[in-house]
Amino acid sequence: MKITAIKSHVLAYDLPDGELGYSQQYYTRRTAHLVEVSTDEGVTGWGECFGPGGVALVNRTIVEQVIAPMLIGRDPLERSACWHQVYNLLRDHGQKGMPMQALSGVDIALWDIAGKIAGLPLHAMIGGKQRDRVGVYGYGMMLKRESTDDHVARFKDEAQVIRDAGFHATKMKVGLGLRADIRLAQAVREGVGDDFPLMVDANHCYTAGDALHVGQALDELNAFWFEEPVAPEDHDGYRFLRERLTTRIAGGEAEFTRFGWRDLLASKGLSLAQPEVCALGGISEYLKVLALCQANMVPVMNHVWGSAVAVATNIHLVAALEPMPGGLFPSEPWLEFDTTHNAFRDELLEEPLHIQKQVAAEKGTVAVLNKPGIGVDPDRDFLAHYAVESERP
Ligand SMILES: [Mg+2]
Repeated sequence: MKITAIKSHVLAYDLPDGELGYSQQYYTRRTAHLVEVSTDEGVTGWGECFGPGGVALVNRTIVEQVIAPMLIGRDPLERSACWHQVYNLLRDHGQKGMPMQALSGVDIALWDIAGKIAGLPLHAMIGGKQRDRVGVYGYGMMLKRESTDDHVARFKDEAQVIRDAGFHATKMKVGLGLRADIRLAQAVREGVGDDFPLMVDANHCYTAGDALHVGQALDELNAFWFEEPVAPEDHDGYRFLRERLTTRIAGGEAEFTRFGWRDLLASKGLSLAQPEVCALGGISEYLKVLALCQANMVPVMNHVWGSAVAVATNIHLVAALEPMPGGLFPSEPWLEFDTTHNAFRDELLEEPLHIQKQVAAEKGTVAVLNKPGIGVDPDRDFLAHYAVESERP
């Protein structure tokens, strides 16, 4: 069996509800970058690369101009050998960031092919499912160009809507400034009530000292986790916060490969690890990072962003996550779900995942997928309709 082609599909559309934002930027377009690997036996694998906007276009070039020439002609079942061939060459040009995002999409597609050849769903390929349904948390409450008072009112309402939709927990953005951010978290806590798990995502907008100030308010609010409080490079800042706050310190979505994760975990600043499979190096590398997290006794809550391919991949990964630590009533990992408009998640597939519908009908959970591989088939007409060639993504 041989790889015959590796093609990127970069998709984009204008968000219907206007601009959305987090602490680093506002955006008006939704982008997705899917990778299709074809073989001489007619089996096709699908993967996804993390990275919006122009990042997706650059990653497409890496996939099609750098990685594809190395792998075309190779056996797609030799996933680890393919991964290391690419990584060893790209090591001189980027051990983190876009080269690894590009490699991630290709690796995921190779796992999809392997599952289809074996006739096994991805979760069975990586050790088997630990649960038949996966709990889901809903994030929303994005920043907009509006006053703090308007943010406070909107966040409180949105939090209630997410809770009432059936999700197990919710996550909000911050990034307006210390006093405003604390007001936002207080409003969301009011909105969801005292017992509903509430997470706060700063997208690394604070110094460690400012994050401590906000984190102390989050402790008062019984927040479940405080995500990316400081820059991903600031390992000392992570440890400083973890030693001083009760709220769990979460992060890792901007870390790459076993080598980056080795150093992040060694710094002892994480209470929860959030590996992003579509960025850190794909499923092959995710499994190594997962082993490192387990060896450091740091529970994992996957970071999830993107289209139905990324969501489906993560349903398999979360289904297979071992309870950590074990026990009669272990903490369960949740699937992250973005509640804002995303046609690439909801309309991409010939058979949609219907996450929101399942969450509403099945006590905040989604069913584990059982078709071979990742088990999703993008609709070709949909891909053609949203395809971006070279214009602004
Ligand atoms: Mg985040």
